[in-house]
Amino acid sequence: MQNPHKKLYLSPPHMSGAELAAVTEAFDTNFIAPAGPMIERFEDFFAEYSGFGHSVALTSGTAALHLALRYLNIGAGDKVIASSMTFIGGIAPILYQGAEPVFIDSDQSWTMDPALLEETLTRLSVAGTQARAIIPTDLYGQPCDLDRIVALGDRFGVPVIVDSAEAVGSHIGDRHAGKGAWAAAYSFNGNKIITTSGGGILATDDTELADRARFLSQQAREPVPHYEHETFGYNYRLSNIAAAIGVGQMSVLPERVAAKRALFDCYVDGLAALPGVSFMPEQPGTQSNRWLTVMLIDPEKAGTDTTTIRLRLENMDIESRPVWKPMHLQPVFASSSVTGGAVSERFFAHGLCLPSGTAMTADDQSRVVEAVRSAFPG
Ligand SMILES: *Cc1c(COP(=O)(O)O)cnc(C)c1O
Repeated sequence: MQNPHKKLYLSPPHMSGAELAAVTEAFDTNFIAPAGPMIERFEDFFAEYSGFGHSVALTSGTAALHLALRYLNIGAGDKVIASSMTFIGGIAPILYQGAEPVFIDSDQSWTMDPALLEETLTRLSVAGTQARAIIPTDLYGQPCDLDRIVALGDRFGVPVIVDSAEAVGSHIGDRHAGKGAWAAAYSFNGNKIITTSGGGILATDDTELADRARFLSQQAREPVPHYEHETFGYNYRLSNIAAAIGVGQMSVLPERVAAKRALFDCYVDGLAALPGVSFMPEQPGTQSNRWLTVMLIDPEKAGTDTTTIRLRLENMDIESRPVWKPMHLQPVFASSSVTGGAVSERFFAHGLCLPSGTAMTADDQSRVVEAVRSAFPG
């Protein structure tokens, strides 16, 4: 039987029209070969918006984190501290460099617990093996407790690289998420709040890091007419066409943040009164972009659970997803160390991400609210 509804996805791309104009300009000027003026336009746009001195446009957020770790010469035997509750794209670069992740649990903000970070830095310091970098994640758009984490990094001499992949458009006071760390990585993958189809940015105020990252992202070619290499790099530069999409998307970012936040409010209005339901909180003094609305179900009180709700939504052509499975529970990290763990395990057991597309209509929103409500007994 034909389902009368269109499928509702978790976080599909949402074009404004400005992207096609920029892509057309790139075509008309024949900047199809990967380098071209849209890259600088996109970088300048983002640097201005985020307040960072430099932004380097790359093929992904994962690449941005990788280049920051490579710049620090992190390698075999080194430890890198990172949030356990995150997506593996933020962690895999530690493995690319042959280093070892040390995971930290979340606190009630869902982001890295600074108290556990301090405990871990102290423990490593006492053992004489200080970590080489700290990678906290701005989870689902919620900025981490950046000032505390940076202060701890400074105290122990460890640079902070924020994984702000999900937090484009989020703020701490009037500062953009990630600003204040040594470096921050942003993602413009197709599922993020704005997209270049696929892409990322490494942002920093450190000119040397920005220059080196740009150099390494283009195969580490020395500035001579022939191809000369004193080291090796990567093919990580964003293409001019993808950057053109980013230029168009940047122009609607504030609208997209407003739409995600309004959608979150709509879910709270429609669902928060149900027994056992709560939502991922927003930390005082911060503004999350609410990339995804995340609901928490207490099965004892609710009389239902996340799996039941998710399968019910799936039957109604509505996509929802469990929250990120903590890294310390992933088979690939079975032998990695973790400080704490119970908090993110609970979020994983009971958290569900709801459809959060910015192009959803009021009808789409009610459809999801009604579908979730229908999974509750009584
Ligand atoms: C999306 C994401 C990444 C990776 O970004 P890509 O651009 O897909 O490589 C890293 N960390 C987190 C937390 C993400 O959500």
